[in-house]
Amino acid sequence: MNRGLLIVLSGPSGVGKGTVRKEVFKNKNLNLAYSISMTTRTPRAHEKDGEDYFFVSEKTFLENLKKDNFLEHATFVGNYYGTPRNYVEQLRDEGKNVFLEIEVEGAKQVLSKYPDDEVISIFLLPPSLAELEKRIRGRRSEPEDIIQERLGKAKREMGLKKNYQYTVLNRNVKEAAREIVKIIENRIK
Ligand code: 5GP
Repeated sequence: MNRGLLIVLSGPSGVGKGTVRKEVFKNKNLNLAYSISMTTRTPRAHEKDGEDYFFVSEKTFLENLKKDNFLEHATFVGNYYGTPRNYVEQLRDEGKNVFLEIEVEGAKQVLSKYPDDEVISIFLLPPSLAELEKRIRGRRSEPEDIIQERLGKAKREMGLKKNYQYTVLNRNVKEAAREIVKIIENRIK
């Protein structure tokens, strides 16, 4: 059995990575598994522990970091996020293509560690910065200073799209997902 690929989906906060990912996962022929990250962020209302993230304390996160348990990790707007290494490698051994939905610093670590032919890297672009701000505000879950921080970070993140093998515009969720499915199909056939 071939080892699975690592699929890295990045893009600014609020661009719709999660929604597009869920649409991509409806396609059962791609043999996908989602990499559930660990984070110290507080869960949003609809989020479930062990499904969206493993929500942990800073102490637990730092213990895992010390044991080198993360394939990559980053801080984002005051919280830690990391990809559990063993879980991902085990899934790849089982032939699964493991889907990482991560921000740009973590993606940089992954892209520098793995050869190009083991990775599919995709940067998801918003139609415009105005649209991105609307989406971030639409969540209504965070105070203004955090929103401003996410927006500032989003602008800086956009400059890093050149590090990725593919860029996909998220004007429409179904179209963006279709494009990503096509990219993956072309690489796994
Ligand atoms: P949010 O707080 O909106 O769920 O996530 C903030 C940012 O962190 C998003 O860009 C999200 O994709 C990214 N992120 C989620 N999990 C990880 C992870 O394990 N590692 C890294 N580097 N970024 C992550």
